[in-house]
Amino acid sequence: MKYRHLGKTGIQVSELSFGSWVTFHTQAGIDSAVTMLAAAYDAGVNFFDNAEAYAAGKSEEVMGAAIKKLGWRRGSYLVSTKLFWGLHEGPNEQNTLNRKYLLEGIDSSLARLGMDYVDLLYCHRADPSTPIEETVWAMHNIIERGKALYWGTSEWEADDVVTAIDIAERHHLHKPVVEQPVYNLFERHRFGSDYDRLYKELGYGSTTWSPLASGLLTGKYQAGIPGDSRGAVEGYDWLQGQLTDANSLAKVAALQPIAREMGATLAQFSLAWCLQNPHVSSVLTGASRVEQVHENMKAIKFIDSFTPDVMAAIDRVFE
Ligand code: NDP
Repeated sequence: MKYRHLGKTGIQVSELSFGSWVTFHTQAGIDSAVTMLAAAYDAGVNFFDNAEAYAAGKSEEVMGAAIKKLGWRRGSYLVSTKLFWGLHEGPNEQNTLNRKYLLEGIDSSLARLGMDYVDLLYCHRADPSTPIEETVWAMHNIIERGKALYWGTSEWEADDVVTAIDIAERHHLHKPVVEQPVYNLFERHRFGSDYDRLYKELGYGSTTWSPLASGLLTGKYQAGIPGDSRGAVEGYDWLQGQLTDANSLAKVAALQPIAREMGATLAQFSLAWCLQNPHVSSVLTGASRVEQVHENMKAIKFIDSFTPDVMAAIDRVFE
């Protein structure tokens, strides 16, 4: 495993990282989480991603309990969580980045994780109804209180990120250092164009999500929705349309021979494709069972296999 700087910060993250959306609590209990986290850690992963909203807080509890069981030295790994959607109804606790919610939300997340601090704290979405200045001050205060070490954004407009950085610089506050955007063979526009100036001009880092488009890019949906897949998980039926879209499935089928020629599985090929972009700091992988972790970690072998000919063949699939 190689490590990349998180943008222009001093911190380094493994090229492949591991997140718990959908899986922890819903598909994987503590024992299964221990096995998957251990497999990722043993392969060199040092960054583990979570969010308050995942399984309504239960995902943080599972990850915290699993890491405790594993007994890892705190300095050897990074944990993140994200705030925005909230767990309680009410005007100030949902879909917000207001100061009260953020300061209380981080305490609740840390209690569920059983940790004194998270390494990265993300604003899970932008909140147009709270002044960015209020959010920047709250995130700065969270860091000053030692509850997070760095902070970032997820799916913010590039202009809003620039505004947040500008406010922080003017007031000498901790500024956001990383964006968490979707990035995979199907969804690359925002990462590849809108955010370009963030990486190139501001040295912003990126930890990208859904590299396999929720499993579509493994080829597992070619013959319908397998009963043990994310597409069949209760509460995630909104994903079924994109997982069974005929046009997308045809593209996945066309990618298969390119991956085979490389000697990679489709999952490894799709993960490695994300990593060949130098603006990616870390690709967040997900898995519902340990065999997937073992397969996915081997993707790093193929990062240098994306020759101009291979890239042209991929372009033809997406023309
Ligand atoms: P992927 O797109 O890689 O999907 C992961 C899922 O695909 C697995 O849970 C598994 O589902 C299936 N899968 C993975 N590997 C294989 C394999 N080798 N063979 C067959 N099936 C496989 O990533 P996620 O969508 O899970 O996103 C990764 C992480 O990114 C999340 O855990 C989270 O931390 C973060 N994220 C952040 C978001 C944000 O808004 N900031 C949004 C979404 C994710 P199954 O076996 O059930 O089919």
